[in-house]
Amino acid sequence: MSDSQPKPGKWISRRAFLAGAAVGGAGVWAAGVMPRWMLAKDPHRPPKLYEYFVDNYWFDSAKMYDDRINPPLKGRQRVDIAIIGGGFAGLSTAYNLARRLPGQRIVLIEGARCGYGASGRNGGFADVGQPGVSFVYDAQGPEAARAYYDATRLGLQQIRTFVDDYGVDCELELTGSTMLAAEESHIDQLVEEKARFDQMGIRNDLMDRAELRRKLHSDRFFGGLYDPNHAIVNPAKLARGMKDVVETLGVEVSERSKVLRMDPGSTVRLVTEFAEVFADKVVIALNGYAPQFGLFKNRLLPVNIYASATEPLSEAQLQSIGWAGREGLWDTRSDFMYLRLSADNRIVFGEGGMIPYDGSPSSGNYQPILDAMQRSLLVTFPQLEGVRFTHNWGGTIGVTRDGMPSVGTLGDADNIFHAVAFNGEGVVMTQLAGRIVAERIAGEDTPLVHLAMVDKQMPYIGPELVRNLGAAVYRQLDLWH
Ligand SMILES: Cc1cc2nc3c(=O)[nH]c(=O)nc-3n(C[C@H](O)[C@H](O)[C@H](O)COP(=O)(O)OP(=O)(O)OC[C@H]3O[C@@H](n4cnc5c(N)ncnc54)[C@H](O)[C@@H]3O)c2cc1C
Repeated sequence: MSDSQPKPGKWISRRAFLAGAAVGGAGVWAAGVMPRWMLAKDPHRPPKLYEYFVDNYWFDSAKMYDDRINPPLKGRQRVDIAIIGGGFAGLSTAYNLARRLPGQRIVLIEGARCGYGASGRNGGFADVGQPGVSFVYDAQGPEAARAYYDATRLGLQQIRTFVDDYGVDCELELTGSTMLAAEESHIDQLVEEKARFDQMGIRNDLMDRAELRRKLHSDRFFGGLYDPNHAIVNPAKLARGMKDVVETLGVEVSERSKVLRMDPGSTVRLVTEFAEVFADKVVIALNGYAPQFGLFKNRLLPVNIYASATEPLSEAQLQSIGWAGREGLWDTRSDFMYLRLSADNRIVFGEGGMIPYDGSPSSGNYQPILDAMQRSLLVTFPQLEGVRFTHNWGGTIGVTRDGMPSVGTLGDADNIFHAVAFNGEGVVMTQLAGRIVAERIAGEDTPLVHLAMVDKQMPYIGPELVRNLGAAVYRQLDLWH
């Protein structure tokens, strides 16, 4: 690295917050000796599976409550490849496998319905390079970071393929996104981030306060850094569209089929409520649900994070906030806010607080965080005072200490593959990860199968028992504040 290069370790990103929170959470867990009754009395314990189903704006907009839901898998099944999890990672794996290995019997097994997990609940920021480009930059320098960033572009390209070639209507908008300096001193962080992008040969546009104010009518921010390569999408429509695509390609998709047990071996045995499946190869695409399934318990931290949507803004309200470019926005605070416009001109946004996942099938809602987020939106745009918040929801994500995703192989027989740990930034990265898993299963030796997140051990995050006790304290005492 030359002297003019930015120093390692200063990179700021959406994932930096999440990884930081994981480490901070470990401190909370250390406090954790808590009687069982606290778990039983937990006031934030989420409800049963579908209770909050239509509180999610994306589910609502995709009309998921009317949508066809496939029957559960039944009986004894012999398959070539079983994919567990019907989020973006599982669906992308299915898509890429079906194109490479058309003769094989590929079954995707989803516990609820495809897109029910974080994939149907996120902000819909299709950010390239994330998560992980900062890790690669610090560890291997700008050229490797550039290669990593370019590889993730394939993930966004895959979403464009679904739209262009398969007619998936997922409201994809190639808007770019802007990181906003929330404090005057944070301008230095934007300048430093731009220097890193310059080193990588990637265009990013720095805006001072006046220039930003012309585009976005908010007094809250001191400048911005625009990355033109990012996009926004309706994530539930994308997930449901991907389900249709993989079925067209011959993948058998079972919904309402939670996998209850996995017995590794040269043939892997899976047990669901109504089926026993024998698979030559299995793909784990469970992200934040993987620890509940018994995998990566001491390396992958499941947490719930939350989002809200306003009612559709009127023309006058839209005029009052500017934002004509409709780009995704997020700010530089550690508990950053992210906000974007939906196709029908709502603001969909989230901010900060996260709650340790307690193994319930739904992430539920958590009103103190939602209230704080909504107040914060009105600090950003006081001109929207009185706007109605129509939808509130949460979702479960998987976070690692180093903020990197993980793609690799498990089991003595090298026949159990995984793609997890998207650290709150999986819309694009899951698309790429699914492709990498498929390339590995197909035995292809491409540059993608050598990327930094492949076969990289997730760092240890501490014993689950201590964390679960600490999580009870965290929820009881509202330590997210
Ligand atoms: C509120 C929120 C905002 C976010 N914002 C963004 C954003 O703007 N941009 C971004 O890039 N990322 C964002 N993310 C993160 C992103 O949504 C995830 O990284 C991504 O969706 C992970 O996809 P996945 O397929 O790995 O996991 P999931 O989508 O969680 O899929 C896992 C699936 O496994 C199923 N399952 C669980 N257990 C079992 C079992 N035993 N048997 C069978 N099936 C099972 C679940 O029902 C689920 O459908 C956000 C997440 C949340 C919650």
